[in-house]
Amino acid sequence: RIVYVDGHYGPESQGKVSIFDRGYLFADAIYEVTCIIGGKLVDFDGHMVRLVRSLKELDMPMPMSPQELLAIHRKLIADNNVDEGLIYMQISRGNADRDFNFPSKDTRPVIVMFTQARPVLESPLAKRGLKVITLPDIRWGRRDIKTVQLLYPSMAKNAAYEAGADDAWLVQDGFVTEASSANAYIVTVDGRIVTRGLSSDILHGITRAAVIGFAQEAGYVLKERPFTVAEALEAKEAFITSATSFVMSVLSVDGQMIGDGKIGPVSSRLREIYIDKAVGARI
Ligand code: PMP
Repeated sequence: RIVYVDGHYGPESQGKVSIFDRGYLFADAIYEVTCIIGGKLVDFDGHMVRLVRSLKELDMPMPMSPQELLAIHRKLIADNNVDEGLIYMQISRGNADRDFNFPSKDTRPVIVMFTQARPVLESPLAKRGLKVITLPDIRWGRRDIKTVQLLYPSMAKNAAYEAGADDAWLVQDGFVTEASSANAYIVTVDGRIVTRGLSSDILHGITRAAVIGFAQEAGYVLKERPFTVAEALEAKEAFITSATSFVMSVLSVDGQMIGDGKIGPVSSRLREIYIDKAVGARI
C-alpha cells in the first residue's frame, strides 16, 4: 500500500513520523475519515468544512488548500486502486521538543494519509444490525473537535466486543450522547426521529447532517433533543450514522431488544436514501 506522509508518497513500510510529532506526544492532531465508493469520495466537501473548523478551534493553520488535499486523496485512491473503503487523513501541529505550550507559529503541520479497502455498501453489519451496550461518557468536553484523542472510544468499543456486542452508546447524566464512533438516533412509537442536538457534547457528524436533511425532505419528523436509555429501550427503532457505516440499525441495547429486534423500516429507508443521494453525489 502506498501512503502519504509529510509531503511524500511511498510504501507503508516507509511511512514513519517523528517521535516528536505532537500528535504522538499530546494527541495534538485532528483527523477526517472519508468514505470511498467506486473509487470516489463521499461528501468530501462536508469533511473539509469540519476539518477547517477543527483546525480553527485548536488554533492550527490550514496546511494546504482543500483542492490540494483532494488531489492527494485522489492520488492515493488511484495508486492503491481502492474501489470501496475509506481514506484517513491526519494533521498534527507538527514536530517540536516536548513542551505543553504550543510550539512557535511557524512549526510545520504534519499531514498523513492512507487508504483502507473494505466493503461498505454490502457491509455484513449493515445487513445484520448492531447490538450495543451503554457505558458512561467520560470523554473530555470538546467532542465537537475531531482530535485523535480516541483512547476512551477505543476502550468502549473493546468493552462492547468483550460483552458480545458490536458497539457502545455513551451516556452522560442519563442521556445518550453518541456511539463510540458514530451518532445515535431513536425512532419513537409515534414515528419521530430523535437525535441529540449539536453542541460540544458530540461530534458534528457529516453523515448526521446529510441524513437528517434527507429525512426531513422525505417527510419524517425530526426532533433534535437528548434522549434517555429508557426512551431508547421503548423506541420502535434505533440506529447510528457515520461516514463509513452510513446508516445502520441498532437491534438491541444492553441486551434488550428494540422494537421487534429486526432492522426497522425507517433506518433501512434512510440508508437507501443516503446511498441514493450522498453516495450518488460522490466526487
Ligand atoms: N461521533 C463520533 C465520536 C465519531 O468518531 C464519528 C466518526 N468519526 C461520528 C460521530 C460520525 O461522524 P461522521 O458521520 O462525520 O463520520
